[in-house]
Amino acid sequence: MIKLHNSLSRKKEIFKPITEGIVKMYACGPTVYDYAHIGNFRTYIMEDVLRRILKYNDLSVLYVQNITDVGHLVGDGDTGEDKMEKGAKAAGKTAWEIAKFFTEEYLKDSHKLNILDPNVSARATDHIADQIAMVKKLEELGFAYKISDGIYFDTSKSKNYGEIAQLDKEGLREGARVEKNPEKRNETDFALWKFSPKDKKRQMEWNSPWGVGFPGWHIECSAMSTKYLGETFDVHAGGVDLLPVHHTNEIAQNEAVFGHKTINYWVHGAFLLVNGGRMGKSLGNAYTLVDLEKRGFDPLVFRYFVFSASYRQPLNFTWQAMEGASRSYENIIQKISDILEEPLTVDKNYLAIEYVNKFKELINNDMALPEALSILWEIIKDKAVPNKIKINTIANFDEVLGLSLIEKAVTKKGEGFNIPEEVIALSKERELARSNKDWKKSDEIRKKIIDMGFEIKDTDAGTKVSLIK
Ligand code: AMP
Ligand code: ZN
Repeated sequence: MIKLHNSLSRKKEIFKPITEGIVKMYACGPTVYDYAHIGNFRTYIMEDVLRRILKYNDLSVLYVQNITDVGHLVGDGDTGEDKMEKGAKAAGKTAWEIAKFFTEEYLKDSHKLNILDPNVSARATDHIADQIAMVKKLEELGFAYKISDGIYFDTSKSKNYGEIAQLDKEGLREGARVEKNPEKRNETDFALWKFSPKDKKRQMEWNSPWGVGFPGWHIECSAMSTKYLGETFDVHAGGVDLLPVHHTNEIAQNEAVFGHKTINYWVHGAFLLVNGGRMGKSLGNAYTLVDLEKRGFDPLVFRYFVFSASYRQPLNFTWQAMEGASRSYENIIQKISDILEEPLTVDKNYLAIEYVNKFKELINNDMALPEALSILWEIIKDKAVPNKIKINTIANFDEVLGLSLIEKAVTKKGEGFNIPEEVIALSKERELARSNKDWKKSDEIRKKIIDMGFEIKDTDAGTKVSLIK
């Protein structure tokens, strides 16, 4: 049983997917006008862990994340420059060039943090027609109106506008942080389609039934999530700042088009802070993963650091805290490497089941990672658990933690024991194939492993991988 805090009810709820065994999940991705900062990555790591926990529970997850490469304006509202065009100007490049560059950088950093790639990574600019179609639908249904700078959503027509944020009208107005626009019918109304300015040409603009322009920021997530996941899906995640405006508006759009509730669980991650305040690109106090690497930190130390607090609690970033996390992470790797025995045995049935149960109970309890880490420490220190069982149990935990614990320990052990991560991954895959009695696949994987210079033996104690001598 998985329990998850749902921002809709503000309670921890028992998680039940719409279709048994399958979870459809969407998360708001980066706006690619600059490097993602480590605050953003705290949220992406939380989403990655949630996805891994769902998989760990034998659910198959269809995970979609968007890439915002147009329409996100500087003020998060409907005024100000487009972040992409502003970023491009600052870099002396085109908006298309910086979108490509920062999307690649984002993926590189995600990989360094062991964040698994989404099943679908959807770019806003690849889905302009879908967004126009949704705005058209909203217009047909009477939710949209035109003013001089664009097509707007009439929030007074929405049944429960702002329910998720549980803010009164004042709060929503404040949350919206929009400059007053006297043409709008309600202060909380937001742009669905913005017209290109008459006096200058935008780099990113498209024809539409209403005139040349670009989509509003919120419509991309509604259009792309429902395109790939259907009109009702299970989980939508993001950082807590998105709740009062972006997610409130996504809900308003979806429910207007489909006439019913469309997303069952909303999961919001708390902020990474610096000196007790928000870390933000625009505040000039944002560190990137490369900044951390320049100071000598392994990116996975940051992933480990993120696990030191519940995802719902703000976490303060300091270099001192990173030093502490680094020592602790190194210590774990050292201890694992001390108990590694050659040949490495990979067997998913070779587990300390009481530890696995405790670990599972904690991660399934609204992702209690600090507590789950203490179980990791407990088993590492437990002298009563045989080494092979310990190693396999740690490898099992790492399916969720994604800290490359075994791979790093193997590397640390030295040359003679250097089984590459790829070979370990392949042997895990082969184990799975064998347990599914897929002998053809298992043989294919064995051949691949041999081609890479390793031999693989199936013994009573499990599968053993070693270097061909
Ligand atoms: P953005 O690129 O600004 O659209 O943000 C991408 C993601 O990072 C969103 O889910 C935000 O909620 C999240 N985010 C932004 N700043 C922080 C922060 N300081 N800590 C944690 N998450 C953040
Ligand atoms: Zn979004």
